[in-house]
Formats: sequence, C-alpha cells, structure tokens
Amino acid sequence: MGRLNGKVAVITGSGRGIGQGIAVKFAQEGAAVVVCDLDAGPAQETVDMIKNAGGKVALCTGDVTKREDAEKIIKTALDEFGGIDTLVNNAGITMDAILHKMSEKQWDIVVDVSLKGSFLMSRAAAPHIKERGGGTIINFASVAGLMGNPGQTNYSSAKAGNVGLTLSMARELAGDNIRVNVIAPGFINTRMTQEKKEGDTLGIPKELRDAAIAAIPLKRPGEPEDLANMVLFLCSDEGNYLTGQVINMDGGLYMKRFM
Ligand code: NAP
Repeated sequence: MGRLNGKVAVITGSGRGIGQGIAVKFAQEGAAVVVCDLDAGPAQETVDMIKNAGGKVALCTGDVTKREDAEKIIKTALDEFGGIDTLVNNAGITMDAILHKMSEKQWDIVVDVSLKGSFLMSRAAAPHIKERGGGTIINFASVAGLMGNPGQTNYSSAKAGNVGLTLSMARELAGDNIRVNVIAPGFINTRMTQEKKEGDTLGIPKELRDAAIAAIPLKRPGEPEDLANMVLFLCSDEGNYLTGQVINMDGGLYMKRFM
C-alpha cells in the first residue's frame, strides 16, 4: 500500500527540480499526479518518468500567474482523475538584482509566480478539495523570506508572502479539514542553485555558491528528494495534525534564536 493510494495531487513547476522530485515520489506512493509546468518539454520528461514506473499521471502546461491557466490546471485533475486532494504550489523563479538596479519587471514577475500563483491555484483548488472531505495544500517559502538575502528583495518578499498566505489559509480552511503548510528550503541542488557559467541566466557564481554551502551547519546542499520526503509526510495521514506550520528544510541554515 502506498501512503497516497487513491489520492489526486496537482504539483506546479513539476517539470524539473524539487517539483519533479515531489511528482515522482507522490506517484511512487500511489497518487494520481497532474504535472504542470510552463513548458511541455521538461513536463513531458516528468510524465515519462512516472509512466515508465507504472504510475498514474496527466500533463497540463500553463502559467500559474494567469487565472484561466490556474483554473485549467485544476480542471485537468477533475477531468482526468475525478477530483483533487492535494495541491503543491512549488513553481517559483529568481531574477536577482540589488535594490537600486531592480526593475519593476523583475519585481512583478518574481512576485507574481511565487505569490500570486500560489493564491490563484489555491483559490481554484480549495472548493474541490473541500468536496472530497478535506486534503492538503503546500506552499513554498525560502530561508530568503525568513532572514533576507542581498539581491533578492523581490524573491524574499514573495517568499515571506507565502508564509502569510499559508497562515491565513490554514485558519480559514481548517473548518473544511484542509491542512495548509509551507516549506522554507535553504540551499537545494537544482537549476536555481547550480554553478553559474558564462552566459547562464540562472545559477550562482562559484565563490558565492561555495560561501553559501560553507554557511550551512550540515555543510552540504539538500536534494530534491529531501524536500519530496517532507512534502509526502505532510500530505499523508502521518501529517494529519499539522497545519499552519513553516517547515525549515535547510540543513540548519535558519535556526531561531530563543536566548
Ligand atoms: P527550478 O528547478 O527552477 O524549477 C522551477 C519550476 O517552476 C520550473 O519547472 C519552471 O518551469 C516552473 N515555473 C516557473 N515559472 C512558472 C509559471 N509561471 N507557471 C508554472 N510553472 C512555472 O526551481 P527549484 O529549485 O526546483 O525550486 C522549487 C521551489 O522551491 C520554488 O518555489 C523555489 O523558489 C523554492 N526554493 C528553492 C530553493 C533551492 O535552493 N533550489 C531554495 C528555496 C526555495 P520552466 O522550467 O518551464 O521555467
């Protein structure tokens, strides 16, 4: 018996990175998964991984910042699998610049994908999760949203916003038996944190990357699978008394100081 047998999950940004890790893990545990991403190419790779392992999967491309696309993604779960139990708002991007060089466009895109996307997707999904008698929503924050990061005023603000969004949704939706939690990853090995080479738009220059890893108490980056294991726990029955929690998955990078 898988820990998610009979459940239906929608995972945004699941064409690569952490989202792909969650989608594959959920399918292994028996969930029917809707893989959604901006581009069909990477999304198809995740779909093939799940299909080849005998899992249940459907694909829906779409932009989480657009209301019609958010609604189309949720409708895919209803049409293909008859409902939705879990939504994972994983899609997120970075466009770094120091404050005085940060354009409005850089601000708007990053905040829209990470924060407005979580709102639009959750608003479209919640009534249908309620129809199933309850379920789970996972949002994605970041250590940058809890402790700040130079060059990331847009990203930190969006990620801090996901904490507020989660806490309010957790209170509003508890009566519908919908649990809402937020993961705050630290430094996880994906495209977002890869070593930036000449001409790359994403990634982190080697010196900054080395310094970031050195600052982690566990002295190593996390892997998408580490995040997938936590999201699985939160969305399975094992996590059924957890709601409104910020879960730091960061090798100890952000520790609250109590004294
Ligand atoms: P990633 O490898 O860059 O993957 C992000 C995925 O989101 C991509 O598949 C991307 O699609 C998709 N996406 C981007 N904009 C979208 C949109 N408008 N609509 C739908 N999908 C969209 O990133 P990751 O490292 O796995 O990050 C996953 C989540 O964890 C993000 O919320 C990120 O902010 C958060 N996080 C990551 C780290 C880390 O160290 N990696 C740390 C803290 C928080 P395309 O490939 O088509 O662009």
